Amino acid sequence: MQAPRHIRLLRESGVLELAWDRQDVYRLPFRLLRGACPCAGCVEEMTGRRIYGPEDVPEDIAPVDAELVGNYALRIVWNDGHNTGLYTWEQLRALCDAEGAQQIA
Ligand SMILES: [Zn+2]
Repeated sequence: MQAPRHIRLLRESGVLELAWDRQDVYRLPFRLLRGACPCAGCVEEMTGRRIYGPEDVPEDIAPVDAELVGNYALRIVWNDGHNTGLYTWEQLRALCDAEGAQQIA
């Protein structure tokens, strides 16, 4: 899957902006992202059961850092100390259709 054309952390708005194309731009609230963390600490690998979900996310959640992993994912280091979540482009794309995501173009 193609990487997003751009990825921006908009801290003041509390969102991650992802542009898949010029007319395909979304904003994902940090809380939505953190609550959807796909790592093994947040989702049970065998069952797919979510251990850490949206209701567990603190109000003031924000990324401390974010980095590209290869050309397939974004790793986010959160201010709650969590840093094991790798969000693949497929997962981020799916989150753009989730409730709470905002399409801006
Ligand atoms: Zn996680």
